[in-house]
Amino acid sequence: MSESPFHIEHRYLELPRSFYSRVTPAPLSGAHMVCFNHALARQMGFHTSNPDDWTSVGAGQALLEGMDPVAMKYTGHQFGVYNPELGDGRGLLLWETVGPDGRRWDWHLKGAGQTPYSRFGDGRAVLRSTIREYLCSEAMHGLGIPTTRALFLVSASDPVRRETIESAATLMRVARSHIRFGHFEFAAHHEGPEAVATLLEHVIALHFPHLIDLPEDERRQRWFTEVVERTARLIADWQAVGFCHGVMNSDNMAIIGDTFDYGPYAFLDDFDAGYICNHTDQGGRYAYNRQPRIGLTNCQYLASALLTVMDEDDIRRCLRHYETTYNEHFRQRMMDKLGLAERDDADMTLIMDTFSMLHEHHIDYTLFFRGLSNLHSHGTAPVRDLFVDRSVADEWLERYEQRLQQETRAHDEREHAMRRVNPKYILRNYLAQQVIDSAKEGDFAPMEELLKVLERPFDEQPDSEKYAAAPPDWGKRMDISCSS
Ligand code: AMP
Ligand code: MG
Repeated sequence: MSESPFHIEHRYLELPRSFYSRVTPAPLSGAHMVCFNHALARQMGFHTSNPDDWTSVGAGQALLEGMDPVAMKYTGHQFGVYNPELGDGRGLLLWETVGPDGRRWDWHLKGAGQTPYSRFGDGRAVLRSTIREYLCSEAMHGLGIPTTRALFLVSASDPVRRETIESAATLMRVARSHIRFGHFEFAAHHEGPEAVATLLEHVIALHFPHLIDLPEDERRQRWFTEVVERTARLIADWQAVGFCHGVMNSDNMAIIGDTFDYGPYAFLDDFDAGYICNHTDQGGRYAYNRQPRIGLTNCQYLASALLTVMDEDDIRRCLRHYETTYNEHFRQRMMDKLGLAERDDADMTLIMDTFSMLHEHHIDYTLFFRGLSNLHSHGTAPVRDLFVDRSVADEWLERYEQRLQQETRAHDEREHAMRRVNPKYILRNYLAQQVIDSAKEGDFAPMEELLKVLERPFDEQPDSEKYAAAPPDWGKRMDISCSS
């Protein structure tokens, strides 16, 4: 692979030296390529008939010509407390490539060993967490939600100490950018206005090119407004699909609005508004129903970092877009999920009452909306059967049917549209766990199979019905910790 099929750049290195440290990956032993994302590789502009060609890169044993690995420096607020010591503690940005469609890709090798920012960490990632990140980034992509992607996963034999001894693995995570809110916090609180301005203009040049030619004040305002709006829309997307991130620290917020850093995440099974998926988050700071508010908090942290390069009133005006964008986008998502194309002033009440009902009666979130998407074609049973007390379902269905009478679309047309927004298949935690259990035995076929299903979450896949079932009791509310 001496000749690269894509255009190589490493624009991150144009930032001041304080933004990174050069680090050589620490090699792993007994490495195997266990999962390779061929479709993504094609999109990025290359093809490989033999994924094993990439094993040595994934294992930190080899670098391709042009790779110049760096650990990125950032800081951030973790659980509301500022931590100046952060940075890539176990991941390295190897290079950036540009695909045939002009799209940029950062290649980030997660689990590549210690860096100056590792603090007490070993610089490694374990197989379990690496699989979880791979699965979820691809599941999110399948759902149409902005996310980092998983290019390939390499397992190794090196032992890694977590709560028990586990084995090491690496993930080649790719994204248009790995720059986080925390990069700006680092620049502002440790480097000064010039560094903030340099970083800001770098981000605009690479990821917001439509703003480049605007006068400085307007350019920065429009940029920050877009960041705020993308963040608000992303979180509305999460809420609509029942996704809990689990660790919404400001260092886990991507400046381009991708879902970033998959740790103890969960998709809701039985709807629970206050669900906390991260068992180290005892106060529930990042509970499902707090995510929209925390999204704004993170934008406020970013805003503080921009104070030296933008006018305070302008920043405040940009921040105001968060709430309006979130509310509008969330409302639209829920209208789509309910199949309501006409507007009615009472719809928000219907939406909130629906959430209250799902919460009070512990109704499976995904099955409920998928059931609604087939109401007239398959009947009410798939929805009614989710309720212990059928009268609750009947009462709600009657109200819903009444509301549907205001709609002008034909039933089949509406339900077709609903099936494009209400997934049949989501990455339930227990499904991920089953895949992990097999992988630990050396069998990666279940992972491949699940990934195939999650690629098309809205399609009926008759051979894969088992993946659409409600979770078994053991699979609900699984304890997922941060120790990845
Ligand atoms: P996370 O909770 O994964 O977002 O990580 C928070 C910070 O801890 C980041 O700076 C990570 O790079 C760092 N970190 C997490 N796990 C490790 C590890 N095993 N070794 C070194 N640094 C780590
Ligand atoms: Mg992180």
